[in-house]
Amino acid sequence: MKKIKIIGAGLAGSEAALQLADKGWKVDLYEMRPEVQTPVHQTGDFAELVCSNSLKSTLLTTASGLLKEEMKILGCKLLSIAESCYVPAGSALAIDRELFARKVTKIISEHQNIEIFREEVTELGNDITIVASGPLTSEKLTENLIEIIGDEHLYFFDAIAPIISADCLNMDLIYRKTRYDKGEPDYLNCPFSKEEYEKFVYSLNSAQKHEAREFESKFFKNVNFRFYENCTPIEELARRGKDTLRYGVMRPVGLEEPGTDKRPYAVIQLRAENKDRTAYNLVGCQTMLKYGEQKKIFKQIPGLQNAEFLRFGSIHRNTYLNSPGILNEDLSLKKKDNIFLAGQLSGVEGYVESILSGMLVSKNVMRPAGSQPSSVKLVELLPETTISGQLWRHLITENKNFQPMNANFGLLPSLEDKIKDKRLRKEKLAERAIKDLVVSVQKCCK
Ligand SMILES: Cc1cc2nc3c(=O)[nH]c(=O)nc-3n(C[C@H](O)[C@H](O)[C@H](O)COP(=O)(O)OP(=O)(O)OC[C@H]3O[C@@H](n4cnc5c(N)ncnc54)[C@H](O)[C@@H]3O)c2cc1C
Repeated sequence: MKKIKIIGAGLAGSEAALQLADKGWKVDLYEMRPEVQTPVHQTGDFAELVCSNSLKSTLLTTASGLLKEEMKILGCKLLSIAESCYVPAGSALAIDRELFARKVTKIISEHQNIEIFREEVTELGNDITIVASGPLTSEKLTENLIEIIGDEHLYFFDAIAPIISADCLNMDLIYRKTRYDKGEPDYLNCPFSKEEYEKFVYSLNSAQKHEAREFESKFFKNVNFRFYENCTPIEELARRGKDTLRYGVMRPVGLEEPGTDKRPYAVIQLRAENKDRTAYNLVGCQTMLKYGEQKKIFKQIPGLQNAEFLRFGSIHRNTYLNSPGILNEDLSLKKKDNIFLAGQLSGVEGYVESILSGMLVSKNVMRPAGSQPSSVKLVELLPETTISGQLWRHLITENKNFQPMNANFGLLPSLEDKIKDKRLRKEKLAERAIKDLVVSVQKCCK
Protein backbone atom coordinates (compact mmCIF):
# COMPACT_ATOMS: atom_id res chain seq x y z
CA MET A 1 0.00 0.00 0.00
CA LYS A 2 1.31 3.48 -0.88
CA LYS A 3 2.04 5.53 2.21
CA ILE A 4 2.24 9.27 2.83
CA LYS A 5 2.77 11.62 5.74
CA ILE A 6 0.79 14.85 5.87
CA ILE A 7 1.76 17.62 8.28
CA GLY A 8 -1.15 19.85 9.28
CA ALA A 9 -4.85 19.00 9.30
CA GLY A 10 -5.96 22.48 8.23
CA LEU A 11 -7.80 23.18 5.00
CA ALA A 12 -5.10 21.99 2.59
CA GLY A 13 -3.97 19.03 4.69
CA SER A 14 -7.52 17.74 5.30
CA GLU A 15 -8.38 17.96 1.60
CA ALA A 16 -5.15 16.20 0.59
CA ALA A 17 -5.68 13.48 3.23
CA LEU A 18 -9.21 12.71 2.01
CA GLN A 19 -8.20 12.75 -1.65
CA LEU A 20 -5.32 10.33 -1.10
CA ALA A 21 -7.09 8.07 1.39
CA ASP A 22 -10.04 7.70 -0.97
CA LYS A 23 -7.60 6.59 -3.67
CA GLY A 24 -6.29 3.85 -1.38
CA TRP A 25 -3.22 5.58 0.06
CA LYS A 26 -2.34 4.98 3.68
CA VAL A 27 -2.17 8.46 5.22
CA ASP A 28 -0.40 9.38 8.46
CA LEU A 29 -1.88 12.76 9.35
CA TYR A 30 0.02 14.88 11.90
CA GLU A 31 -1.75 17.73 13.66
CA MET A 32 -0.16 19.57 16.59
CA ARG A 33 -3.39 21.00 17.98
CA PRO A 34 -4.77 20.88 20.63
CA GLU A 35 -1.43 19.97 22.34
CA VAL A 36 0.36 22.90 20.68
CA GLN A 37 -1.96 25.74 19.65
CA THR A 38 -1.40 28.42 17.03
CA PRO A 39 -2.10 32.04 18.06
CA VAL A 40 -5.48 32.02 16.27
CA HIS A 41 -6.96 28.53 16.21
CA GLN A 42 -9.46 28.00 19.01
CA THR A 43 -10.07 24.23 18.93
CA GLY A 44 -8.36 20.93 18.18
CA ASP A 45 -10.69 20.30 15.23
CA PHE A 46 -9.44 19.91 11.69
CA ALA A 47 -10.08 22.48 8.94
CA GLU A 48 -10.86 25.25 11.42
CA LEU A 49 -11.52 28.62 9.76
CA VAL A 50 -9.50 31.16 11.72
CA CYS A 51 -11.07 34.46 10.71
CA SER A 52 -14.08 35.13 8.51
CA ASN A 53 -16.62 32.30 8.15
CA SER A 54 -17.14 33.06 4.47
CA LEU A 55 -15.84 31.02 1.55
CA LYS A 56 -16.84 34.01 -0.55
CA SER A 57 -19.23 34.32 -3.48
CA THR A 58 -20.82 31.45 -5.34
CA LEU A 59 -21.65 33.61 -8.38
CA LEU A 60 -19.87 32.56 -11.56
CA THR A 61 -19.32 36.21 -12.37
CA THR A 62 -16.89 36.36 -9.44
CA ALA A 63 -13.47 34.74 -9.49
CA SER A 64 -14.10 32.95 -6.22
CA GLY A 65 -17.42 31.58 -7.51
CA LEU A 66 -15.72 30.34 -10.66
CA LEU A 67 -12.89 28.76 -8.67
CA LYS A 68 -15.38 26.85 -6.50
CA GLU A 69 -17.17 25.61 -9.63
CA GLU A 70 -13.85 24.42 -11.06
CA MET A 71 -13.03 22.66 -7.79
CA LYS A 72 -16.35 20.82 -7.89
CA ILE A 73 -15.51 19.60 -11.39
CA LEU A 74 -12.11 18.45 -10.08
CA GLY A 75 -13.81 16.47 -7.30
CA CYS A 76 -13.12 18.59 -4.21
CA LYS A 77 -14.05 16.90 -0.91
CA LEU A 78 -14.15 19.82 1.55
CA LEU A 79 -16.40 22.02 -0.56
CA SER A 80 -19.29 19.58 -0.42
CA ILE A 81 -18.88 19.33 3.36
CA ALA A 82 -18.85 23.15 3.50
CA GLU A 83 -22.08 23.33 1.51
CA SER A 84 -23.77 21.12 4.09
CA CYS A 85 -22.82 23.69 6.78
CA TYR A 86 -24.18 26.73 4.91
CA VAL A 87 -25.42 29.76 6.82
CA PRO A 88 -27.46 32.36 4.89
CA ALA A 89 -25.24 35.14 3.50
CA GLY A 90 -26.76 36.23 0.19
CA SER A 91 -24.74 34.87 -2.70
CA ALA A 92 -21.76 34.00 -0.48
CA LEU A 93 -20.97 30.51 0.79
CA ALA A 94 -20.74 31.37 4.48
CA ILE A 95 -20.59 28.41 6.84
CA ASP A 96 -21.07 27.44 10.46
CA ARG A 97 -17.37 27.11 11.20
CA GLU A 98 -17.75 24.84 14.25
CA LEU A 99 -20.10 22.46 12.50
CA PHE A 100 -17.82 22.34 9.45
CA ALA A 101 -14.67 21.63 11.45
CA ARG A 102 -16.46 18.97 13.52
CA LYS A 103 -17.76 17.26 10.37
CA VAL A 104 -14.35 17.25 8.66
CA THR A 105 -12.72 15.89 11.84
CA LYS A 106 -15.32 13.12 12.09
CA ILE A 107 -15.02 12.06 8.45
CA ILE A 108 -11.21 11.98 8.64
CA SER A 109 -11.15 10.21 12.02
CA GLU A 110 -13.47 7.50 10.74
CA HIS A 111 -11.57 6.94 7.47
CA GLN A 112 -10.01 3.49 7.46
CA ASN A 113 -6.94 4.66 5.51
CA ILE A 114 -6.08 7.61 7.75
CA GLU A 115 -4.16 7.38 11.00
CA ILE A 116 -4.06 10.54 13.12
CA PHE A 117 -1.07 11.65 15.21
CA ARG A 118 -1.69 14.57 17.55
CA GLU A 119 1.87 15.86 17.67
CA GLU A 120 4.06 18.66 16.40
CA VAL A 121 6.43 17.67 13.60
CA THR A 122 9.74 19.46 13.99
CA GLU A 123 11.85 17.87 11.29
CA LEU A 124 11.32 16.66 7.74
CA GLY A 125 12.66 13.18 6.97
CA ASN A 126 12.80 10.95 3.91
CA ASP A 127 9.17 9.79 3.77
CA ILE A 128 6.94 11.14 1.03
CA THR A 129 5.46 14.10 2.89
CA ILE A 130 3.05 16.93 2.24
CA VAL A 131 3.77 19.98 4.39
CA ALA A 132 0.44 21.74 4.84
CA SER A 133 1.22 23.45 8.12
CA GLY A 134 -0.21 26.78 7.04
CA PRO A 135 0.61 30.43 7.64
CA LEU A 136 1.16 29.74 11.34
CA THR A 137 3.57 26.83 10.91
CA SER A 138 5.25 26.12 14.23
CA GLU A 139 8.62 27.76 14.80
CA LYS A 140 10.64 24.52 14.95
CA LEU A 141 9.27 23.23 11.68
CA THR A 142 9.80 26.65 10.06
CA GLU A 143 13.43 26.57 11.22
CA ASN A 144 13.86 23.12 9.70
CA LEU A 145 12.28 24.24 6.41
CA ILE A 146 14.59 27.22 6.30
CA GLU A 147 17.59 24.92 6.85
CA ILE A 148 16.49 22.90 3.82
CA ILE A 149 15.60 25.72 1.43
CA GLY A 150 18.00 28.41 2.60
CA ASP A 151 16.67 31.76 3.66
CA GLU A 152 14.54 32.32 0.56
CA HIS A 153 11.39 32.94 2.49
CA LEU A 154 9.06 35.82 3.11
CA TYR A 155 7.01 36.94 6.01
CA PHE A 156 4.00 39.16 6.58
CA PHE A 157 1.09 39.87 8.89
CA ASP A 158 -2.68 39.53 8.83
CA ALA A 159 -5.37 41.06 11.00
CA ILE A 160 -8.70 39.48 12.02
CA ALA A 161 -12.05 41.14 12.83
CA PRO A 162 -13.97 41.05 16.13
CA ILE A 163 -17.04 38.85 16.69
CA ILE A 164 -19.93 40.08 18.84
CA SER A 165 -22.92 38.46 20.45
CA ALA A 166 -26.32 38.79 18.73
CA ASP A 167 -28.04 39.51 22.07
CA CYS A 168 -26.44 42.91 22.36
CA LEU A 169 -27.66 44.36 19.06
CA ASN A 170 -30.00 47.35 19.04
CA MET A 171 -32.33 46.33 16.21
CA ASP A 172 -34.14 49.69 16.37
CA LEU A 173 -31.10 51.16 14.60
CA ILE A 174 -29.91 48.17 12.58
CA TYR A 175 -31.68 46.78 9.51
CA ARG A 176 -31.47 43.59 7.50
CA LYS A 177 -30.54 43.95 3.82
CA THR A 178 -28.25 42.57 1.14
CA ARG A 179 -26.52 45.05 -1.16
CA TYR A 180 -28.85 46.04 -4.06
CA ASP A 181 -31.40 43.60 -2.54
CA LYS A 182 -29.72 40.73 -4.34
CA GLY A 183 -30.88 37.46 -2.77
CA GLU A 184 -32.01 37.04 0.82
CA PRO A 185 -31.43 39.98 3.22
CA ASP A 186 -28.84 38.09 5.25
CA TYR A 187 -26.61 40.95 6.40
CA LEU A 188 -27.33 43.27 9.29
CA ASN A 189 -26.51 46.89 8.45
CA CYS A 190 -25.41 49.57 10.88
CA PRO A 191 -26.04 52.96 9.20
CA PHE A 192 -23.84 55.98 10.02
CA SER A 193 -24.73 59.66 9.74
CA LYS A 194 -21.94 62.02 8.57
CA GLU A 195 -21.20 63.09 12.16
CA GLU A 196 -21.11 59.51 13.45
CA TYR A 197 -18.78 58.47 10.62
CA GLU A 198 -16.37 61.36 11.18
CA LYS A 199 -16.22 60.65 14.91
CA PHE A 200 -15.57 56.96 14.20
CA VAL A 201 -12.72 57.74 11.77
CA TYR A 202 -11.23 60.23 14.23
CA SER A 203 -11.33 57.62 17.03
CA LEU A 204 -9.65 55.02 14.79
CA ASN A 205 -6.91 57.48 13.93
CA SER A 206 -6.16 58.39 17.51
CA ALA A 207 -6.40 54.90 19.06
CA GLN A 208 -3.53 52.86 20.49
CA LYS A 209 -2.27 49.82 18.61
CA HIS A 210 -0.76 46.53 19.74
CA GLU A 211 3.00 46.43 19.90
CA ALA A 212 4.38 44.21 17.12
CA ARG A 213 7.44 43.22 19.21
CA GLU A 214 6.30 39.66 19.95
CA PHE A 215 6.34 38.82 16.25
CA GLU A 216 9.95 39.76 15.63
CA SER A 217 11.02 36.18 15.82
CA LYS A 218 14.78 35.81 15.76
CA PHE A 219 15.13 33.46 12.82
CA PHE A 220 13.13 35.53 10.36
CA LYS A 221 15.59 37.76 8.60
CA ASN A 222 13.17 39.38 6.16
CA VAL A 223 10.71 40.68 8.73
CA ASN A 224 8.17 42.43 6.63
CA PHE A 225 5.24 44.37 8.01
CA ARG A 226 3.16 44.42 4.83
CA PHE A 227 -0.51 43.52 5.05
CA TYR A 228 -2.31 41.42 2.53
CA GLU A 229 -4.70 43.96 1.00
CA ASN A 230 -7.98 42.21 1.94
CA CYS A 231 -6.84 41.99 5.54
CA THR A 232 -5.62 45.55 5.99
CA PRO A 233 -6.60 46.72 9.49
CA ILE A 234 -9.48 49.19 9.58
CA GLU A 235 -7.36 51.77 11.45
CA GLU A 236 -4.72 51.56 8.70
CA LEU A 237 -7.43 52.22 6.07
CA ALA A 238 -8.77 55.13 8.15
CA ARG A 239 -5.27 56.61 8.26
CA ARG A 240 -5.14 56.68 4.43
CA GLY A 241 -7.82 59.37 4.18
CA LYS A 242 -11.07 60.49 5.74
CA ASP A 243 -13.18 59.00 2.95
CA THR A 244 -11.22 55.77 2.38
CA LEU A 245 -13.56 53.70 4.55
CA ARG A 246 -16.81 55.02 3.14
CA TYR A 247 -15.61 54.33 -0.40
CA GLY A 248 -14.35 50.91 0.66
CA VAL A 249 -15.48 48.52 3.39
CA MET A 250 -18.10 50.99 4.68
CA ARG A 251 -19.59 51.99 1.31
CA PRO A 252 -23.34 52.60 1.57
CA VAL A 253 -24.39 52.20 -2.09
CA GLY A 254 -27.16 49.66 -2.55
CA LEU A 255 -27.80 49.67 1.21
CA GLU A 256 -30.55 52.28 1.38
CA GLU A 257 -32.76 51.90 4.42
CA PRO A 258 -35.65 49.47 3.65
CA GLY A 259 -38.79 51.05 2.28
CA THR A 260 -37.04 54.40 1.68
CA ASP A 261 -34.52 55.95 -0.73
CA LYS A 262 -32.49 57.13 2.25
CA ARG A 263 -28.86 56.21 1.80
CA PRO A 264 -26.74 56.36 4.97
CA TYR A 265 -23.41 58.23 4.88
CA ALA A 266 -21.58 54.96 5.55
CA VAL A 267 -22.48 51.43 6.68
CA ILE A 268 -20.84 48.64 8.63
CA GLN A 269 -22.26 45.22 7.82
CA LEU A 270 -22.57 42.30 10.23
CA ARG A 271 -22.46 38.73 8.95
CA ALA A 272 -23.80 35.75 10.89
CA GLU A 273 -21.08 33.52 12.31
CA ASN A 274 -23.23 30.42 12.85
CA LYS A 275 -26.48 28.79 11.77
CA ASP A 276 -28.33 29.96 14.88
CA ARG A 277 -27.17 33.56 14.27
CA THR A 278 -26.09 33.98 17.85
CA ALA A 279 -22.84 35.67 16.85
CA TYR A 280 -21.90 38.23 14.21
CA ASN A 281 -18.63 39.17 12.51
CA LEU A 282 -17.94 42.88 11.95
CA VAL A 283 -17.27 42.78 8.21
CA GLY A 284 -14.11 44.69 7.22
CA CYS A 285 -13.22 45.56 10.84
CA GLN A 286 -10.03 43.51 11.09
CA THR A 287 -7.84 45.37 13.50
CA MET A 288 -4.66 45.50 15.53
CA LEU A 289 -6.01 47.95 18.10
CA LYS A 290 -5.64 47.23 21.82
CA TYR A 291 -8.65 45.37 23.22
CA GLY A 292 -9.75 48.32 25.37
CA GLU A 293 -9.70 50.60 22.32
CA GLN A 294 -11.72 48.08 20.28
CA LYS A 295 -14.41 48.02 22.95
CA LYS A 296 -14.58 51.80 23.02
CA ILE A 297 -14.48 52.40 19.27
CA PHE A 298 -16.66 49.58 17.93
CA LYS A 299 -19.35 50.48 20.46
CA GLN A 300 -19.63 53.79 18.56
CA ILE A 301 -21.08 51.85 15.60
CA PRO A 302 -24.81 52.67 15.49
CA GLY A 303 -26.69 49.76 17.07
CA LEU A 304 -23.63 48.35 18.86
CA GLN A 305 -23.56 50.61 21.90
CA ASN A 306 -24.02 47.54 24.16
CA ALA A 307 -21.75 45.24 22.14
CA GLU A 308 -20.51 42.12 23.91
CA PHE A 309 -17.27 40.93 22.33
CA LEU A 310 -16.97 37.16 21.86
CA ARG A 311 -13.60 37.55 20.17
CA PHE A 312 -11.49 40.66 19.74
CA GLY A 313 -9.73 41.48 16.50
CA SER A 314 -6.01 40.81 16.43
CA ILE A 315 -2.91 40.63 14.28
CA HIS A 316 -0.97 37.46 13.53
CA ARG A 317 2.08 36.10 11.82
CA ASN A 318 1.35 34.85 8.34
CA THR A 319 4.26 33.01 6.78
CA TYR A 320 4.74 31.92 3.20
CA LEU A 321 7.66 30.68 1.16
CA ASN A 322 9.12 31.97 -2.06
CA SER A 323 7.67 29.06 -4.05
CA PRO A 324 8.86 29.81 -7.60
CA GLY A 325 12.43 29.79 -6.28
CA ILE A 326 12.17 26.58 -4.29
CA LEU A 327 9.50 24.36 -5.88
CA ASN A 328 9.51 21.93 -8.76
CA GLU A 329 6.55 21.97 -11.11
CA ASP A 330 4.93 19.16 -9.14
CA LEU A 331 5.09 21.33 -5.97
CA SER A 332 7.89 19.25 -4.42
CA LEU A 333 10.98 20.97 -3.01
CA LYS A 334 13.90 21.31 -5.43
CA LYS A 335 16.28 20.51 -2.60
CA LYS A 336 14.33 17.53 -1.21
CA ASP A 337 11.84 16.19 -3.68
CA ASN A 338 10.09 13.76 -1.33
CA ILE A 339 8.64 16.88 0.35
CA PHE A 340 5.61 18.57 -1.23
CA LEU A 341 4.15 21.92 -0.15
CA ALA A 342 0.45 22.74 0.08
CA GLY A 343 -1.81 25.48 1.36
CA GLN A 344 -1.09 29.04 2.30
CA LEU A 345 2.53 28.28 3.17
CA SER A 346 3.09 27.51 -0.53
CA GLY A 347 1.86 30.93 -1.63
CA VAL A 348 -1.84 30.64 -2.32
CA GLU A 349 -3.98 33.05 -0.34
CA GLY A 350 -7.40 32.27 1.11
CA TYR A 351 -9.49 29.43 2.45
CA VAL A 352 -10.77 28.15 -0.90
CA GLU A 353 -7.38 28.55 -2.58
CA SER A 354 -5.76 26.54 0.25
CA ILE A 355 -8.29 23.73 -0.23
CA LEU A 356 -7.56 23.81 -3.98
CA SER A 357 -3.84 23.56 -3.29
CA GLY A 358 -4.37 20.48 -1.07
CA MET A 359 -6.33 18.86 -3.87
CA LEU A 360 -3.71 19.68 -6.54
CA VAL A 361 -0.76 18.48 -4.51
CA SER A 362 -2.49 15.18 -3.84
CA LYS A 363 -2.86 14.70 -7.60
CA ASN A 364 0.89 15.27 -7.98
CA VAL A 365 1.81 12.87 -5.22
CA MET A 366 -0.34 10.17 -6.76
CA ARG A 367 2.16 9.68 -9.58
CA PRO A 368 3.39 6.10 -9.76
CA ALA A 369 6.83 5.71 -8.14
CA GLY A 370 9.72 6.18 -10.57
CA SER A 371 7.61 7.82 -13.29
CA GLN A 372 7.98 11.38 -14.57
CA PRO A 373 6.63 14.03 -12.23
CA SER A 374 2.96 14.32 -12.93
CA SER A 375 3.20 18.10 -13.29
CA VAL A 376 2.96 17.15 -16.94
CA LYS A 377 -0.45 15.85 -16.07
CA LEU A 378 -1.32 19.05 -14.19
CA VAL A 379 -0.47 20.99 -17.32
CA GLU A 380 -2.93 18.81 -19.20
CA LEU A 381 -5.50 18.83 -16.43
CA LEU A 382 -5.56 22.54 -15.69
CA PRO A 383 -6.05 24.72 -18.77
CA GLU A 384 -4.54 28.21 -18.73
CA THR A 385 -8.04 29.58 -19.05
CA THR A 386 -8.99 28.38 -15.55
CA ILE A 387 -8.45 30.09 -12.20
CA SER A 388 -7.16 26.83 -10.69
CA GLY A 389 -4.70 26.45 -13.57
CA GLN A 390 -3.42 29.98 -13.12
CA LEU A 391 -3.07 29.66 -9.34
CA TRP A 392 -0.92 26.55 -9.84
CA ARG A 393 1.14 28.35 -12.51
CA HIS A 394 1.61 31.28 -10.12
CA LEU A 395 3.42 28.98 -7.67
CA ILE A 396 5.92 27.71 -10.21
CA THR A 397 6.50 30.70 -12.47
CA GLU A 398 9.56 32.84 -11.79
CA ASN A 399 8.62 36.09 -10.11
CA LYS A 400 11.00 38.43 -8.30
CA ASN A 401 8.16 39.95 -6.29
CA PHE A 402 6.34 36.74 -5.47
CA GLN A 403 3.38 37.23 -3.11
CA PRO A 404 0.49 34.94 -2.14
CA MET A 405 -2.27 34.97 -4.73
CA ASN A 406 -6.00 34.56 -4.43
CA ALA A 407 -8.58 33.91 -7.14
CA ASN A 408 -9.13 36.88 -9.44
CA PHE A 409 -10.14 37.41 -13.06
CA GLY A 410 -6.88 39.27 -13.73
CA LEU A 411 -5.15 35.88 -13.75
CA LEU A 412 -7.00 34.74 -16.88
CA PRO A 413 -5.92 35.35 -20.49
CA SER A 414 -8.14 37.80 -22.38
CA LEU A 415 -11.01 36.62 -24.52
CA GLU A 416 -10.50 36.57 -28.27
CA ASP A 417 -13.30 39.11 -28.73
CA LYS A 418 -13.07 42.31 -26.73
CA ILE A 419 -16.19 42.72 -24.57
CA LYS A 420 -16.67 46.10 -22.93
CA ASP A 421 -19.47 45.13 -20.56
CA LYS A 422 -17.71 43.91 -17.38
CA ARG A 423 -20.40 41.51 -16.30
CA LEU A 424 -20.76 39.93 -19.73
CA ARG A 425 -16.96 39.63 -20.00
CA LYS A 426 -16.82 37.75 -16.71
CA GLU A 427 -19.68 35.50 -17.79
CA LYS A 428 -17.77 34.63 -20.97
CA LEU A 429 -14.51 34.05 -19.06
CA ALA A 430 -16.32 31.71 -16.68
CA GLU A 431 -18.06 29.90 -19.52
CA ARG A 432 -14.73 29.36 -21.30
CA ALA A 433 -12.99 28.15 -18.11
CA ILE A 434 -15.68 25.61 -17.28
CA LYS A 435 -15.91 24.33 -20.84
CA ASP A 436 -12.12 23.90 -21.13
CA LEU A 437 -11.84 22.25 -17.73
CA VAL A 438 -14.62 19.76 -18.41
CA VAL A 439 -12.89 18.75 -21.67
CA SER A 440 -9.47 18.35 -20.01
CA VAL A 441 -10.89 16.38 -17.07
CA GLN A 442 -12.63 14.01 -19.49
CA LYS A 443 -9.37 13.56 -21.45
CA CYS A 444 -7.23 13.02 -18.34
CA CYS A 445 -9.68 10.55 -16.86
CA LYS A 446 -9.72 8.33 -19.98
C1 LIG B 1 -4.95 35.49 11.06
C2 LIG B 1 -5.36 34.97 9.73
C3 LIG B 1 -6.60 35.31 9.21
C4 LIG B 1 -7.00 34.82 7.97
N1 LIG B 1 -8.23 35.14 7.50
C5 LIG B 1 -8.67 34.63 6.33
C6 LIG B 1 -9.99 34.92 5.87
O1 LIG B 1 -10.77 35.59 6.52
N2 LIG B 1 -10.39 34.42 4.68
C7 LIG B 1 -9.57 33.67 3.93
O2 LIG B 1 -9.99 33.22 2.86
N3 LIG B 1 -8.31 33.38 4.33
C8 LIG B 1 -7.83 33.85 5.52
N4 LIG B 1 -6.56 33.57 5.96
C9 LIG B 1 -5.63 32.89 5.07
C10 LIG B 1 -5.77 31.37 4.88
O3 LIG B 1 -6.81 31.15 4.00
C11 LIG B 1 -5.99 30.53 6.10
O4 LIG B 1 -4.93 30.73 6.96
C12 LIG B 1 -6.13 29.03 5.76
O5 LIG B 1 -6.57 28.37 6.91
C13 LIG B 1 -4.86 28.40 5.25
O6 LIG B 1 -5.03 27.02 5.06
P1 LIG B 1 -3.84 26.00 5.31
O7 LIG B 1 -4.39 24.63 5.16
O8 LIG B 1 -2.69 26.39 4.49
O9 LIG B 1 -3.40 26.24 6.83
P2 LIG B 1 -4.24 25.99 8.18
O10 LIG B 1 -5.68 25.92 7.88
O11 LIG B 1 -3.75 27.00 9.16
O12 LIG B 1 -3.74 24.56 8.63
C14 LIG B 1 -2.43 24.31 9.04
C15 LIG B 1 -2.48 23.28 10.17
O13 LIG B 1 -1.14 22.84 10.46
C16 LIG B 1 -0.97 22.70 11.86
N5 LIG B 1 0.47 22.79 12.15
C17 LIG B 1 1.29 23.87 12.07
N6 LIG B 1 2.56 23.52 12.34
C18 LIG B 1 2.55 22.17 12.60
C19 LIG B 1 3.56 21.24 12.94
N7 LIG B 1 4.84 21.58 13.06
N8 LIG B 1 3.21 19.94 13.16
C20 LIG B 1 1.89 19.55 13.04
N9 LIG B 1 0.89 20.41 12.73
C21 LIG B 1 1.22 21.72 12.49
C22 LIG B 1 -1.82 23.84 12.42
O14 LIG B 1 -2.20 23.58 13.75
C23 LIG B 1 -3.02 23.86 11.46
O15 LIG B 1 -4.07 23.04 11.91
C24 LIG B 1 -6.12 34.02 7.20
C25 LIG B 1 -4.88 33.69 7.72
C26 LIG B 1 -4.49 34.15 8.97
C27 LIG B 1 -3.15 33.79 9.51
